[in-house]
Amino acid sequence: MKITKLTTYRLPPRWMFVKIETDEGIVGWGEPVIEGRARTVETAVIEMGETLIGQDPSRINDIWQTLYRSNFYRGGPILMSAIAGIDQALWDIKGKALGVPVYELLGGLVRDKMKTYSWVGGDRPDDIVEHMKKLMAVGFDTFKMNGCEEMGIVDTARAVDKAVAKIGEIRAKLGNAVDFGLDFHGRVSAPMAPVLIKELEPFRPLFIEEPVLAEQAEYYPRLAERTFIPIAAGERMFSRFEFKRVFAQSGLSIVQPDLSHAGGITECVKIASMAEAYDIALAPHCPLGPIALASCLHVDFVSRNAVLQEQSMGIHYNQGGEVNDYVKNKDVFKFDNGHIHAMKGPGLGVEIDEEVVIERSKQAPDWHNPVWRHPDGAVAEW
Ligand SMILES: [Mg+2]
Repeated sequence: MKITKLTTYRLPPRWMFVKIETDEGIVGWGEPVIEGRARTVETAVIEMGETLIGQDPSRINDIWQTLYRSNFYRGGPILMSAIAGIDQALWDIKGKALGVPVYELLGGLVRDKMKTYSWVGGDRPDDIVEHMKKLMAVGFDTFKMNGCEEMGIVDTARAVDKAVAKIGEIRAKLGNAVDFGLDFHGRVSAPMAPVLIKELEPFRPLFIEEPVLAEQAEYYPRLAERTFIPIAAGERMFSRFEFKRVFAQSGLSIVQPDLSHAGGITECVKIASMAEAYDIALAPHCPLGPIALASCLHVDFVSRNAVLQEQSMGIHYNQGGEVNDYVKNKDVFKFDNGHIHAMKGPGLGVEIDEEVVIERSKQAPDWHNPVWRHPDGAVAEW
């Protein structure tokens, strides 16, 4: 079998798919995107794609290594996201060619269904309890929300109290019927992270995510020594070579590689395995579309340390496009009390509705995250 063509589709809400065709008629789909830089990743995919025409798509390991190593400069969000989407599509092709789901090619299931969680509250967390109640009615009991809004490098008691009041309301109204992770989203700097974590600890969040930015990862072990709440991070780490540093230094209890940012299935199954060796849980990051979610699930289904899967259905970002809009076999992501069952179809198990993809790609927005500013005009982390 030979690769004959790669086609990219930028799509609402802020996604991009790649379709890889072969001379035997088997087609694979991937989702190479970094949110806010879709056009840049698209250029990388097209450039890498030119080297793939005529190659045997079954040699995924060699293609991955060649895409990663054949240029002197490598790594980072753009290149690793481009590789990720291509890698997903190659696994999709291999599974379809052999007539089995990708998890079978990775050694088979370690679980039958995977627990997921839902986002609540939006960019500036609000109406959290009402949002949770609606999702509890359809079986969810685990959630994630932003832990705070803008936070200055050193901020006031008022800013801390505002965050604490919102989270406190959840326990006051819902008790321990729910669990929730708090995403600091890189909004909190090293001086404020211990202050905020100390104040939020009594509400027993499931984890604190990105308590400081990944580029301040040296603080993770220091923060972990000062709290009993598990610390999670990883959506802004792009390969084993970045994850090995946080594994070696300790501090993280949960790693969250993104299957569309960290080199795809080939790389993330290895990151998951490295995490297992350190007794670190896996919770893949996925505020993206159906191919990214399916790729995450295939890794979850073969990784014993996978504990929670993020998914974007109903997330505040999904303006103009939802996960199932692009899927023909919509039952594949049907929730069973917040769990998704192992998909049965060959490859990634998701049948992409190409007509919808082509149609929606004509109105793809050029999404960028908002630029937030502190009251004094200095740019804030979003
Ligand atoms: Mg996050």
